[in-house]
This record gives sequence, C-alpha cells and structure tokens, in this order.
Amino acid sequence: EKRFRVEALTDTIEMDGPEVQHMRVLRLKAGDEIHLFDGTGWEARARIEDLDAFTVTMIVLERFQNDLELPQPVTLALALLKGDKLADVVRACTELGVSRFQLIKTQYADVPDLGDNKLVRLRRIAEEASKQSRRAVVPEVLAPISLKQLPSVPLGFVAHPGTQDTVLSKLSWDGQVWFATGPEGGFSASEVELLKQKNFTPVTLGKRILRAETAPVALLGAVVSTGV
Ligand code: SAM
Repeated sequence: EKRFRVEALTDTIEMDGPEVQHMRVLRLKAGDEIHLFDGTGWEARARIEDLDAFTVTMIVLERFQNDLELPQPVTLALALLKGDKLADVVRACTELGVSRFQLIKTQYADVPDLGDNKLVRLRRIAEEASKQSRRAVVPEVLAPISLKQLPSVPLGFVAHPGTQDTVLSKLSWDGQVWFATGPEGGFSASEVELLKQKNFTPVTLGKRILRAETAPVALLGAVVSTGV
C-alpha cells in the first residue's frame, strides 16, 4: 500500500505538488482509500474526495500513531565526513531508527564544513530512507555545530576506540538518548573530555578499528539487536 506525506493531518486535506502527480501515475481516483503520514509519527487512513491534474482533496477517516519508533528519541551527533559517506550514514541510521542527526565539526575532520546544498540532499535522503522503512518520523538533519555548542545530554554514548564499557551495559530508555561518532581521524583527547563533561560515556565497538561511516551503523546495530 502506498503512503503519502502531508504537512498536517487535518480533517480535510488539500494538496498539490509532486505527490499529486504520483497519485495520478498510480491511477488513484475519488473514493480510493490511501495511507498518509505527517513526518512526526502520526499516520492516517484517508479517502480521496477529488483528484484533478494539480490538486487532491482528501478526508481523514482515522488517525493512529506509528509504533515503529525506538522507545525514546535518539539523536546521532555525527562528525562531518568526506564525499558520500554522510549520505550513507544518514540512510542506514534512519533505517535503524535515529530520529535526529546533529552534524558536528571536529578537530581531525577531513572536511571543515558542509554547504547548504549538501544539507538539503541529506534531508531528502533521510525522508526517502524513512519512507522506505515505513517509519512515520522523518529524522531532522541539523546543520553542523562545534562540539562546544553541543548541549549537555541526559544520556549519551561516544564511540571511542580503546574503551572497555559497552553501550548495551549502560543503555536505558528513561529519556532521550544521544550517540556520537567521530571523523576518520577520530576524536582528540580533549574532545572526548568535553563530551564526557556533557554526559557522553565512551564505549567500545569491538577490538577492531571501524571506518568512520561503519561506526554509527555498528553502534545503532547493537541497540536494535535488543529488539527495540
Ligand atoms: N585513528 C582514530 C582513533 O584511533 O581514534 C580512528 C578513528 S575511527 C576510523 C572513526 C570513528 O569511529 C571513531 O572516532 C569512533 O567514534 C568510531 N570507532 C571506530 N572504531 C571503533 C571501535 N573499535 N570502538 C569504538 N569506536 C570506534
């Protein structure tokens, strides 16, 4: 069944744009029932009232909350990476349930900053990946900030080679959870100190050194292996 994204799940929804073209390609017509989602976790069953070349009018029949989300919102603080690696991480970690990406500038990163076009592209990738895995939440991708600007978090974990603690031994779902992974050159000692002050516990991802784009997937993989 095809799902369509709408801005808000009001009782009656009028919409134009590419989704309307898509509906026409699928030969949907007045009277057909469709599935809508708003990007914040709500979904609805709706009926098409009217569909012309440019506009569709839909009536919401039933709203429900999508239950595919992790027990609490998870933010990944992700160091900037070169080329398409960020896109790969955003795609995979959206599938794994991350609800927000906070890009971070770090000392040993290969790239100092990220252009607006790239940010827009990452947001589109998050939207596509979210649809793909049938989530109703489209993760936000927040423009890069420095580590200093990162807030103190209620519960956080930073993947750092050479540590002993494991994420699963310390993870709880009492509130929002943050994860952080470094750039190809890793986090500096002072960056790890700063993260610790902000409540991030250093954790291991095994004895081998993982590439910067593999580490977040391994970290989230450990989390979802618990069945959440
Ligand atoms: N030369 C760097 C170092 O020793 O810290 C290697 C950095 S690694 C290529 C990139 C990032 O992946 C790290 O900053 C860390 O967040 C994560 N990472 C890679 N392997 C890891 C491991 N075995 N345990 C924990 N984190 C790891």
